[in-house]
Amino acid sequence: MAALTNLTRGNEIGANCYQLDFGESRVLLDAGMHPKRTGRDATPNLAPAADRQADAIFLTHAHLDHAGCLPLAQLCQPDAKVFMSPPTRQLVEPLLFNSVNVMKRQRDELTISEYPLFTRHDIQAAMRHWQPRSLDRYWSLDGTPLRDNENPGLRFRFHHAGHIGGSVMVEIATADRRVLYTGDICLHDQTLMTRATAPAGPFDLLICETTRGAQPADGVSRNLAEQSLLAAIRTTFARGGAVLLPVFALGKTQEMLALLHQARLRGDLPANSVLHIGGLGKVFTLAYDETAEFSARAHRGLKLMGDVRPQIFDLRKIEKFKPKAGHLYLLPSGMMTENTTSNTVATHFLPREEDSIYFVGYSDPDSPAGRLRCAAAGDRVTLNPRYGDQPVRCEVRHFDFTSHADRDALSNFMVSVRPKNLALVHGDHDALAWFQREMQSRLPAANVFIPEPGQRIAF
Ligand SMILES: [Zn+2]
Repeated sequence: MAALTNLTRGNEIGANCYQLDFGESRVLLDAGMHPKRTGRDATPNLAPAADRQADAIFLTHAHLDHAGCLPLAQLCQPDAKVFMSPPTRQLVEPLLFNSVNVMKRQRDELTISEYPLFTRHDIQAAMRHWQPRSLDRYWSLDGTPLRDNENPGLRFRFHHAGHIGGSVMVEIATADRRVLYTGDICLHDQTLMTRATAPAGPFDLLICETTRGAQPADGVSRNLAEQSLLAAIRTTFARGGAVLLPVFALGKTQEMLALLHQARLRGDLPANSVLHIGGLGKVFTLAYDETAEFSARAHRGLKLMGDVRPQIFDLRKIEKFKPKAGHLYLLPSGMMTENTTSNTVATHFLPREEDSIYFVGYSDPDSPAGRLRCAAAGDRVTLNPRYGDQPVRCEVRHFDFTSHADRDALSNFMVSVRPKNLALVHGDHDALAWFQREMQSRLPAANVFIPEPGQRIAF
């Protein structure tokens, strides 16, 4: 008897965590932290998993909403081995240590007494159970490599997911069941990340993300988005301005560094344009460089720190910061959350007509980035109550450099892997609803469903 239990606290883009039971064996898929909530509310609901020890936890990639509660899950499951790809092993460690710092700061600033949810010591203890494993081959649950026809009961295989460095889909197989969990997946090439590799079906269960379900594909290719962004940057530079790109420290920072570096080499940007990244961006960029050789990516020889040579933004000078003409600032967070570097830096950009703020990724409509994106020139916006509202005088635009599959490509993917059961997860209400309608019509023989939080579904 096999069953899926959704361990999230809501059907939304939040804290990913799912449980699979195969008879006596149990595994968990991801252990994320909700990026917009705080305290216990931001964690997965691990209570349904407490009745038995899990054999393993699988991590798809090192983004906060998939990996941010890993030490917490391991405290509940102290004997579980944790499997992930080798680059994810390098990336998740700084993510978690940074998360402890953020939680300690929030404990004081927002008086959240339960923070930090785990300590540096907990991370160090958890790391002893981390077992990086390579892609495209089967492994047993004790971590030994298997031949293709060898079947020791429960085995797993990682497939390239194309989303950020090290991201994988997880395939789990028993004698009579095959399951695929996508994590976050990208089906088009980015500058560094090559598109996902779809495994051959059929699968008894596909657990699939639905992030972009509410957005019709706009037909704008990545190539065209790149040309528009570069043209806009050149125009800003020509009028003596600087450009702020609010980006996530992991994934988008590295993609943009590579993209802008290539443009500089081709002459599509001035050779003397200067790139800046944040301190955490530097940590992840170094990890990208260290793992380039064994990552499924393009430009493996490109060293982002050594070849692109970004300057590291000096946080100590942030209050007196002045944007410099011809400089590009790639600063976290992507959604300009209050008290992050891009939020504070943006307050120095807003009053200057010659400057530009260009968004290159997803921003929640309720975030400061979402509010700024909706503002017209001259409107007043509040990025941080500490600074009050300000008129928008700089140029504000959005360019779509998503690292998620668009909904048409993703629905083709879902059809191609031939699932008998399709669990739709990790999407907002409209996105989930679109995929449910679409897939019920495209896969009429399949059981298409949205698993409710805490619900156990046999398959
Ligand atoms: Zn992600």
